[in-house]
Amino acid sequence: MSNPRVVVVTGASRGIGQAIAEAFVANGDTVAALSRTGEAPEGVQGYAADVADAAAVDAAFTAIEKDLGPVEVLVANAGLTRDGLLMRMSDEDFDTVVDVNLKGTFHVVRRASKGMIRLRRGRIVMIGSVVGLYGGSGQVNYSASKAALVGMARSITRELGGRGITANVVAPGFIETQMTAVLPDDTQKAYKAAIPAARFGQVEEVAGVVRFLASDAAAYVSGAVIPVDGGLGMGH
Ligand code: NAP
Repeated sequence: MSNPRVVVVTGASRGIGQAIAEAFVANGDTVAALSRTGEAPEGVQGYAADVADAAAVDAAFTAIEKDLGPVEVLVANAGLTRDGLLMRMSDEDFDTVVDVNLKGTFHVVRRASKGMIRLRRGRIVMIGSVVGLYGGSGQVNYSASKAALVGMARSITRELGGRGITANVVAPGFIETQMTAVLPDDTQKAYKAAIPAARFGQVEEVAGVVRFLASDAAAYVSGAVIPVDGGLGMGH
């Protein structure tokens, strides 16, 4: 792959996505950020779209291709939680999480793959979660949405592997962001006690692995789940 590539990172207005976008900028790539607010870190062009809305995703990609060129790397990172115990989980909270984390990922991957097939190369990285395979109390909706990304990446690998396109899942553990800052102290303590590394992760530690998967060095890695969790899931 030649630099600069056009890289799209969803959910790059803050947290892990922001760090991923910044890592690609530092690598000399041209980066577009896609989120509901359209906010983007310095050096990154922001586009507003809700990933749950297929038409909005299509319009944003059309604008990105027109402004920056064909998209070679997609990082599907946008995601949210609506935690609650199974017995009390509403249909709305289940649907919201699945619509954004799973269907939203489907929308961006489907749209990005069009151009990658034409280019005959591409890198798709989906941000899953340790909870996808490890489970999480109060996270039936979230863990189901993240586990599903594994099947999606593996099916894409089978469909598009022969066209120079890879699809992998990065599964972060407990990373210090706004998403985890809202968790109760007891939950945070319980996690820390279970993590062999005995600390929470930093956004840059996830970004480094994503950048590797999008690099030439990872050309033969596809359909994989790469944990970045301090050993919490023991590689699943
Ligand atoms: P965060 O700080 O809450 O950021 C989430 C990002 O997603 C924001 O940029 C947000 O931007 C965007 N977003 C949310 N809903 C969206 C929608 N419907 N359409 C488009 N963009 C949307 O979360 P984070 O902690 O960085 O998490 C990033 C990803 O890592 C998520 O998929 C999360 O599930 C996963 N993850 C996080 C952890 C962790 O410990 N933090 C662990 C495992 C996995 P707008 O508000 O501008 O739309």
